[in-house]
Amino acid sequence: MSRFTTRFAPSPTGLLHQGHAFSALTAYQAAKAAGGRFLLRIEDIDTTRVRPAFEAAICEDLAWLGLEWEEPVRRQSEHMGDYAAAVERLRGRDLAYRCFRTRREVLDAMASAPHGPEEVFRGGALPQAEEAALIAEGKPFAWRLSLDRAREVLGADWDRLSFLEEGAGPDGETGEIRADPGRLGDVVLARKDVGVAYHLAVTVDDALQGVTHVVRGNDLFEAAHIQRLLQALLGLPAQVYRHHRLLLGLDGKRLAKRNGAESLAELRTRGVTAPEVRRELGF
Ligand code: GLU
Repeated sequence: MSRFTTRFAPSPTGLLHQGHAFSALTAYQAAKAAGGRFLLRIEDIDTTRVRPAFEAAICEDLAWLGLEWEEPVRRQSEHMGDYAAAVERLRGRDLAYRCFRTRREVLDAMASAPHGPEEVFRGGALPQAEEAALIAEGKPFAWRLSLDRAREVLGADWDRLSFLEEGAGPDGETGEIRADPGRLGDVVLARKDVGVAYHLAVTVDDALQGVTHVVRGNDLFEAAHIQRLLQALLGLPAQVYRHHRLLLGLDGKRLAKRNGAESLAELRTRGVTAPEVRRELGF
């Protein structure tokens, strides 16, 4: 059994608030309790939204809270080759296809699906000649995972795919959970604009970093279904999940920047101390 290894993986697109602190402390405490490793990973692939200043602020806030993490920190933007190689492996088995559709076209396709409106997108590759013409035109495309092909490749294993949830999903899902990768549709593996996308990057990184336990908010519970599938398709080890509850604000909504959650930096400026924050969050 490998040594317990978990991570906190923020995206540097804003300042951390108490919801992030709760998540980071939960992961950190789990690592300490298991005599394991705690990693910090900077998920900065969305170059349209990340700002270096936020990365510095994240490190400052976590250190202020009393967390320590291993160096070097993995910064996703520095590992694009790893993600491209994973997409390449999936392509090699026809598990990925080019999607030239715009966001609007994807939504329209979902709305007018043959058996009634769909919540998720299922597309498939275009006929070869059509695709070749679009490539020749220089039309940008994303890479999407083909669920139909994934089912074919996995055969009987498709129905046996599962993951262990030691925390709970938003509806209390816990224990051995049957993976249902179809619920997110043909997810994007590599975005048109930045060349990689969340599920692929996380799956590759968790494997490369030897993560054994994924501790994160239950807003990402659904992601485990598709990430489990990607692990299987790429021949990567499966992680154990510990999804935790989300912190709610006074308005009953989850803490979020867009709902005006106070940042840790603001709390600090108001004179709130790190021990007070930890205590308030139950640590
Ligand atoms: N970067 C993601 C976020 O900021 C977390 C990814 C994960 O924990 O799997 O929500």
